[in-house]
Amino acid sequence: MSGSVPPGFDFRRDGAAALEWAARYLEHVGEYPVLARSAPGDVRSRLPATAPDAPEPFADVLRDLDEVLVPALTHWQSPRFFSYFSVTASEPGIVAELLAAALNQVAFIWRASPAATELELHVVDWLRDLLGLPAGWHGHIEDTASTSTLAALVAARHLTGRTAVVFSEHAHSSVEKAARLLGLEPRKLPTDDAYALRPADVEAELARGGVAAVVATVGTTSVTSVDPVAALAGPCADAGAWLHVDAAYAGAAWVCPELRWSQEGVERADSLVVNPHKWMLTPMDCSVVWTRRPDVFREAFTLVPEYLRTSDEAESLSDYGPALGRRFRALKLWTVIRCFGREGLQEHVREGIRLAELFERWVEEADGWGVVAPRRFSLVCFRREGSDEDNLALLEAVNASGEIFITHTRLDGRVALRLAVGNARTTEEDVGRAWDVLRREAAALRA
Ligand code: PLP
Repeated sequence: MSGSVPPGFDFRRDGAAALEWAARYLEHVGEYPVLARSAPGDVRSRLPATAPDAPEPFADVLRDLDEVLVPALTHWQSPRFFSYFSVTASEPGIVAELLAAALNQVAFIWRASPAATELELHVVDWLRDLLGLPAGWHGHIEDTASTSTLAALVAARHLTGRTAVVFSEHAHSSVEKAARLLGLEPRKLPTDDAYALRPADVEAELARGGVAAVVATVGTTSVTSVDPVAALAGPCADAGAWLHVDAAYAGAAWVCPELRWSQEGVERADSLVVNPHKWMLTPMDCSVVWTRRPDVFREAFTLVPEYLRTSDEAESLSDYGPALGRRFRALKLWTVIRCFGREGLQEHVREGIRLAELFERWVEEADGWGVVAPRRFSLVCFRREGSDEDNLALLEAVNASGEIFITHTRLDGRVALRLAVGNARTTEEDVGRAWDVLRREAAALRA
């Protein structure tokens, strides 16, 4: 056998079957238990111990997808997935991923893919403008916010030659992990009543010295708190420390002018990460990093082996991050932005917030329930009266129902339940069902 089409495989026929499978899956995704009902090892025990010697029909792959894998999926595309940050792979984004795979661009230098390189530069400029960010900032795409923040901290260390990173106890774990990977000292600060960094605490750390970077979060993972970026920018600049803003989730909200209060001061940051794969309808993975100091990124990351030397004047996007091989991620972001337009992106964010507000109101008005942190975007943190154990038991019960999937966090030492809206398929009825399931299971536990 030679070539890329194995015997028995028909690209049009099998491709059409896969697309049909995907369409049916998305039509019925709300009917599955949201959280996988699977025990560790279940999936592997149902897979052959060794790879096949002879070619197998693609139909068998689809059959096993249905029979072996789907029952062990947690359905992130479900309209009642309310965990972590709820996300959406939109249909235009899914189709663009198919095209990106067909093109298989490996866009490490300009000539390896002029189209992928230039589309990436162009589409992140579009997105920068859609989000109201400063003209002139340089952007590129990484896989995840973890990599984006790692890249920013590499730049910060390169520029400052210092060894510490300051961030809040509510910053995402990827910040501490990046610091650890880089051999930088993590300095994790407690937060104020609104779960945000206190500028005075950050100034004290800057005065202590050695601070390469301060990482401020707009929309923390636990509670969507917003660090006071505007108040941190001046002290960081005075101390020569890099200011990186992690708006991986909440940055998408800036497509709506009324939510740009949370952007105050971001224009003074050295770098910023926003994940279109979170709240902007783009399939995993797509994380955009912008910087007003692209020269520092280039100095930190550029390393051109002989075999990649060219006479091109054009820029290579592998000069801005850790990876050499780069996927054509810009294609799906471009497709999503074009197919939804500014208005569609705004509608998605506003609907998520409207549904979260609705749920928040129900919780506030119900006896024995309470909202435990200010709701800023589309996440509600709440509790049922009773102990932490009671709330964790409730969490287990609602997730075991299969009807919804939510997670928890700990705020001021106490368990808080989190309901995150963000899937574009979620309707008022779905949020209402979540509230019904919570009350039903709470009543059952009491009984
Ligand atoms: N930053 C924030 C605020 C997040 O909420 C998350 C993930 O939820 C991350 C960073 C990490 O994102 P990624 O999974 O893209 O690395």
